[in-house]
Amino acid sequence: MHKGRAFAEVIIPSPLKEPLTYQIPPELDLTPGMRVVVPVGRRRVTGVVAELVAASRIERVKPIIEAPDGQPVMDEALLRLGQWIAKYYLSPIGEVLAAMMPAHLRGESRRVVSASEGEFAVDGLERRILDELGRSKTAIGLKSLAKKFPRGFYPALDALARIGAVEIRERTRRQRKKPVSDAENVAPPNALSLTAEQQTAYEAIEAGVVAAGFRPFLLYGVTGSGKTEVYLRAMERARSAGKRSLILVPEISLTPQLLDRLQARFPGKVGVIHSALTAGERWEEWWRIVRGEVDVVVGARSAIFAPLPELGLIVVDEEHDSSYKQDEGLRYNARDVAVVRAKLVGCPVVLGSATPAVESYENCRAGRYALLELKKRVERRSLPAVETLDLREVWPTSSDKPRLLSPILAQALRDNLARGRQSLVFLNRRGFANFLQCRLCGFVLRCAHCSVTLTFHKSERIVLCHHCGWRQAAPEACPHCGHPAFLPVGFGTEQLEHELAELLPDARIARMDRDTTVKRGSQEKLIRQWQRGEIDVLVGTQMITKGHDVYGVTLVGAVLADLSLNLPDFRAGERTFQLLSQVAGRAGRGEEPGRVIIQSYDPQHYALRHVPAHDYPAFFAEELEFRRALNYPPFSRLVHLRLEGAQAPAVEKQAKLLGDWLRAQGSRSAGDSQIEVLGPAPAPIMKLRGRFRWQILLKGKKGPALLALAAAAQARVPRTSRWRLHIDVDPYSML
Ligand code: ADP
Ligand code: ZN
Repeated sequence: MHKGRAFAEVIIPSPLKEPLTYQIPPELDLTPGMRVVVPVGRRRVTGVVAELVAASRIERVKPIIEAPDGQPVMDEALLRLGQWIAKYYLSPIGEVLAAMMPAHLRGESRRVVSASEGEFAVDGLERRILDELGRSKTAIGLKSLAKKFPRGFYPALDALARIGAVEIRERTRRQRKKPVSDAENVAPPNALSLTAEQQTAYEAIEAGVVAAGFRPFLLYGVTGSGKTEVYLRAMERARSAGKRSLILVPEISLTPQLLDRLQARFPGKVGVIHSALTAGERWEEWWRIVRGEVDVVVGARSAIFAPLPELGLIVVDEEHDSSYKQDEGLRYNARDVAVVRAKLVGCPVVLGSATPAVESYENCRAGRYALLELKKRVERRSLPAVETLDLREVWPTSSDKPRLLSPILAQALRDNLARGRQSLVFLNRRGFANFLQCRLCGFVLRCAHCSVTLTFHKSERIVLCHHCGWRQAAPEACPHCGHPAFLPVGFGTEQLEHELAELLPDARIARMDRDTTVKRGSQEKLIRQWQRGEIDVLVGTQMITKGHDVYGVTLVGAVLADLSLNLPDFRAGERTFQLLSQVAGRAGRGEEPGRVIIQSYDPQHYALRHVPAHDYPAFFAEELEFRRALNYPPFSRLVHLRLEGAQAPAVEKQAKLLGDWLRAQGSRSAGDSQIEVLGPAPAPIMKLRGRFRWQILLKGKKGPALLALAAAAQARVPRTSRWRLHIDVDPYSML
């Protein structure tokens, strides 16, 4: 088939920048995207064929050992997407591939080892490995076995395999469990007739699906305007054109309703990818998708890598959501990657939101994306009436002990409960209090590993680090001076829940935040109870602001809007507007109109001022001026560099050297390719998980020049035991 293509470039999951070249044995019929097992040093590694080539640049190339699947695990467009990501996000292609594929596909834990029958005369490490295997009745995973023998394991195992003392094989695939869903017996919904606005939006996307070319759309539709219905129709259209579609959502456990709707429309043909899947489940799902057994895939961030053949449409719901940005490991933005994937595949991509990201709306103004608008809610429902309360006027004198709920919000909650309606109360901070402080000496408990205070959680009587999870029992007295008044300062959702329970003793109150939803499936359970009206008041962090569509909710309270506003982040205003508009949008989705009360110390801030009128364009106009004045995106591009290490002085010194060098480089550029170097400065969280952090921000008008400089910095500061340089292109969180 591939005459003259005697060599394969193979990407292996590793920090290598380039694929490795191997010789193709004549009996193997390879295509790009296939998995192959290759020798690397003395190990066998599973990689993916990037390309077939006629000649090798190096002389002695080893042959490929085997190709386990007989078919590609990804198509060429997905491979090229991986290569684009590697280049753009300055990450080695092998690490990109590792992030794209489930661990099992990388061959890491798929292999199991068992002892063979019979006696073998070996000693030393080989003997100990064999004994370990002898103690186990069943086969042991290769990886977990390797962990028990830190030194010399693989050569010893190889030796044992050669004499037939052990057997190494692929783990047999488990039978697939049937996906569980409430929607199994749901009949397809009676066909709604689209509103005129929905119809117009649908037709534009439909034209894109039929033309099968790259077309980016921003579907800007107010909350409850029926965006999801437009996505579903477009996905059905793709299917009738013989294509498959992919829909990304911020967090799948928060949107069980969407899953229901998808399963009703595409019975048995929905693939689901999310972080709660086990490695084995991911692997199963991957194969189901590669084989073309599903028509649609829904999932959170990493689902953008789902290997759908014949991809005909990509949808990114709530495209503004910051959970699309991966902040650890491979730092990518799934929304941006979605647009690139659509371009490589040649298909339309729909970004949907009631509160678009500033960058996305700007892309419409600049003519790069087509803007589709849904300005009205379906069924002529009105948008909720939003009022802002100035807390400075609510609690004018210090003799009134300020509570979390103002008298107006408290009364509204009582009334709403009396009418048998549901209320949502939002506060963007979990825990009971920010921290514990001694009233005598002022001592505050801090995390031993991070430069932050420990948050007090009353029900468990612990103090907890919200960054690294470190916890300890809350001390009864000040650990510093022994004074007994070691008391909570500040507040969080746990305290709010207490205050609500006092206010509404008969109400069924539930709290939803990271503390109450650690168990798998607990978020979904809460949302379902909320949906069935089994909860009167739902209290929570931003988790409760997203996506759900519950008819009985007629009151929404935002307890302290200022919390997100005062973060050291240029997107703080944008985030605040988005959070408040989204949480407000949960109200009044049924027959009855909704009421929203926002408490704040700064209701005149532009991020709050336009929420009552649901006026995104007005907010956008002000936000854009702010961004222009400070030369922030979309007027510039950013790359964030962070140096980390266990020794504070070494990190600081290296950061300063790098800063000087970058400045010298930056000053050589001129005009549009000019690059501003900000820092180095200690990161806002200077110490995290025991590692000290310094940061530098690069700002420039032109992406390529910026990336080139960042790449040069990367080459200058190789990873050592003393420090490590993390690079975040188009950063979101810079704490
Ligand atoms: P959004 O995603 O914009 O918040 P949804 O698509 O979830 O809105 O729609 C909100 C509600 O309105 C859903 O219950 C949906 O079934 C319903 N809906 C959507 N389109 C229509 C329509 N054309 N006519 C009547 N109801 C609709
Ligand atoms: Zn910590």
